Amino acid sequence: MITIALSKGRIFEETTPLLAAAGIHALENPESSRKLILPTNRDDVRLIIVRATDVPTYVQYGAADIGIAGKDVLDEHGGEGLYQPLDLNIAKCKMMVAVREGFDYEASIRQGARLKVVTKYVKTAREHFAAKGMHVDLIKLYGSMELGPLVGLADAIVDLVSTGGTLRANHLQAVEEIGAISSRLVVNQASLKLNRAQLQPIIDSFAQAIQ
Ligand code: ATP
Ligand code: MG
Repeated sequence: MITIALSKGRIFEETTPLLAAAGIHALENPESSRKLILPTNRDDVRLIIVRATDVPTYVQYGAADIGIAGKDVLDEHGGEGLYQPLDLNIAKCKMMVAVREGFDYEASIRQGARLKVVTKYVKTAREHFAAKGMHVDLIKLYGSMELGPLVGLADAIVDLVSTGGTLRANHLQAVEEIGAISSRLVVNQASLKLNRAQLQPIIDSFAQAIQ
């Protein structure tokens, strides 16, 4: 049995055509089903629906053979034990630093101010500011980072931005790009060795579908 770990929402939606290219169709919609294990049209393939941040963990420990996770999530996880053969080019966005409109980010850096930064991407943020030689106080949040600067919790946020609509709606502006984000295929290395006959065709179909 091949187990594929996916998260609900945009990753599931954007993965559906890739699965179809590999001849895999979920028999239930995860958005409406309460099942965490979804059967597919193939007896030898099942999907597990997990939190986006948990996908690398399921694959790392071999509870899932393959998974699809954002580069944001993989950077935080560290990627140990994961083979990452494909950038699937889906769920694309950018990891950005943003501040309140009117906040002079460049000036505060020049003055050596110690910024307070809220983010759920603590590792990514720590590495980014360390590489710039900036001293920051990182505050971990689990959601709605945009609120932090508006209520005085922080000077800046590190978060994913796609259209910028959420930033604008909250009077924030992006001031720095940390990196481009897209979703990646991750594979358990031991499982690939053991189950190559089943896994390789799925990986190859994904690779062809994203051409
Ligand atoms: P929740 O929003 O329920 O807390 P989550 O943030 O873990 O869960 P999603 O918001 O669905 O889950 O994000 C899943 C993945 O989709 C992220 O890890 C990221 O790679 C990608 N993603 C997030 N936001 C965007 C966006 N605005 N545009 C494109 N891709 C995005
Ligand atoms: Mg989200």
